[in-house]
Amino acid sequence: MLVLTCPCCNVTAEETEFHAGGEAHLKRFGPGSDNADFENYLFMRQNPKGVHFERWRHNNGCGKWFHAARCTMTLEVFGTYSAQTYEPPKALCDAISAKRPGWSWGAFS
Ligand SMILES: [Zn+2]
Repeated sequence: MLVLTCPCCNVTAEETEFHAGGEAHLKRFGPGSDNADFENYLFMRQNPKGVHFERWRHNNGCGKWFHAARCTMTLEVFGTYSAQTYEPPKALCDAISAKRPGWSWGAFS
């Protein structure tokens, strides 16, 4: 079971208190974009074996959305951070690099 810490209210709880919201840091495309970009935005998701960045909502708590970095193999949570960012904090990426040298996820490493 995942144990997550909400960065908004600092409550640490099991995943049943939260709701998964899919992949984090999606680049959104709207009307006027070409079909390939819109198709990728709607349907294409990463499914890594290892480091993954996800959106979570503190459903049974403060109700706010946040991002979490975790390992899909071991369920280790590397950290959580505000959803109001375009990329993960450098300190978190450095912490992941210390544990998983050579990791990458999309444009991040
Ligand atoms: Zn919260």
